[in-house]
Amino acid sequence: MAVIDADDLPLFAPSKKVYPQSVAGPYRRAKWIILVLCLGIYYLLPFLRWDRGPNLPDQAVLADLANNRFYFFFIEIWPQEIYYFTGLLIIAALVLFLMNAVAGRVWCGYLCPQTVWTDLFLAVERAFEGDRRERIRRDESPWSLDKAWRKTGKHAVWLVIAWWTGGAWVLYFADAPTLVRELATFTAPVSAYVWIAILTFTTYSLAGIMREQVCTYMCPWPRIQAALTDDDALNVTYRYDRGEPRVSVKQAQRLRAEGVPAGDCIDCNQCVAVCPTGVDIRDGAQVGCIQCGLCIDACNTVMAKIAYPTGLIAYDTDDNVKRRIAGHRPVYRLLRLRTAIYAALILVVGGAMIYQLATRQTAGISVLHERTPLFVKLSDGSIRNSYTIRLLNKRPEERPFALTVSGLPGVRIETIGPQATADLRPVVTVEPDSSREIRALVTVPADVHLEKSQPLTFTASDLFAGEIVRAEDHFIAP
Ligand code: SF4
Ligand code: SF4
Repeated sequence: MAVIDADDLPLFAPSKKVYPQSVAGPYRRAKWIILVLCLGIYYLLPFLRWDRGPNLPDQAVLADLANNRFYFFFIEIWPQEIYYFTGLLIIAALVLFLMNAVAGRVWCGYLCPQTVWTDLFLAVERAFEGDRRERIRRDESPWSLDKAWRKTGKHAVWLVIAWWTGGAWVLYFADAPTLVRELATFTAPVSAYVWIAILTFTTYSLAGIMREQVCTYMCPWPRIQAALTDDDALNVTYRYDRGEPRVSVKQAQRLRAEGVPAGDCIDCNQCVAVCPTGVDIRDGAQVGCIQCGLCIDACNTVMAKIAYPTGLIAYDTDDNVKRRIAGHRPVYRLLRLRTAIYAALILVVGGAMIYQLATRQTAGISVLHERTPLFVKLSDGSIRNSYTIRLLNKRPEERPFALTVSGLPGVRIETIGPQATADLRPVVTVEPDSSREIRALVTVPADVHLEKSQPLTFTASDLFAGEIVRAEDHFIAP
């Protein structure tokens, strides 16, 4: 046997171009369905309308950066409620952990944008340049008119998809039909063109040129998930207990007739040919495998053709392979401590967010004590403090709020500008879906014994809807 000296090995091996072959089967079908759903939602959602009443945008999903609002159907998020996004990010991370605990890199194989767009770009490549063999032959052949128009056509369609991907992204930040008109007439804001250009470039290069190299070399998730996974997570597994030793169908028949064991893998290489990352799953778990299941479809097709049972490659665990070799039954444990904990955490965080959303207030008040001066002693001996009060109205109609203050005997509040009710409570009217800042003077009579600093409660009551909001601050005395 020839011995290879380690010094003769190159430090870096150039990556080989991968030519994934088309394949049919349930996993491929599932991937197509997910692709159509994800891209359909992404490209069309900005055009979905949602009536929120007059003066408010009617786009169902809109990040209105100019007015500091995020709209998601019936939900309107204000900047103060950014914690909803934190909650969403926590849920997204937990769902990813749960997916990983149940079925390894199922996110990578089916739902990751890199996978979805690469699949789309590969479909375009096949439409122009044919399937694997044809593409390899064409790439190896000298340039011709046929090769030139096919390559040009492919790159042109890739660019259009990439451009539309960037275009769809900016539509989430402005009224979509208006922005489309502005883009078409070159009257849109410069930032829209810049973002479209950036996303056109990234989509084209990531999904068209870099493809599987993003998953293998650039993305951190394969390394993170390798640290998170356990022996019970289902992964796309070559059942070497059944597949080895690899022999042709005829040889297998002959060997079995002689009582010599033969594996079911006929070494046809179909599982490698269809792999979008160029991985040979028979070499075991590896960082390049995105767990897309396409090699399962390919191998099952081969098995069906040669009348062998399907499932030589399947979602399974290495432990089960070892158990079968030892003559034991395989064990599938989807419900275990870590999956139960992840599911429970998702329910708790999701439930807390739903509760918070269902009971969220549509008004708000914040109070800021003015510091210069901290207090004023009036000619009758009473003490006065000044405050800046901001009232929030998150509803689509104008609302009058009556202001009161409590916490000290005889304390009274006056505002500069707004009128008062019959019971002398100042009333501040706030425009729909906006906030209003006012100055307020709080006075305590001279005969009240005052400490240096005492707590005060400011209350704003909606005179129509009855909603009440409160804020705490302090009254400062000499
Ligand atoms: S497709 Fe199946 S039979 Fe063919 S090489 Fe792969 S594992 Fe073996
Ligand atoms: S080895 Fe199989 S599951 Fe893994 S990426 Fe390749 S085709 Fe997908």
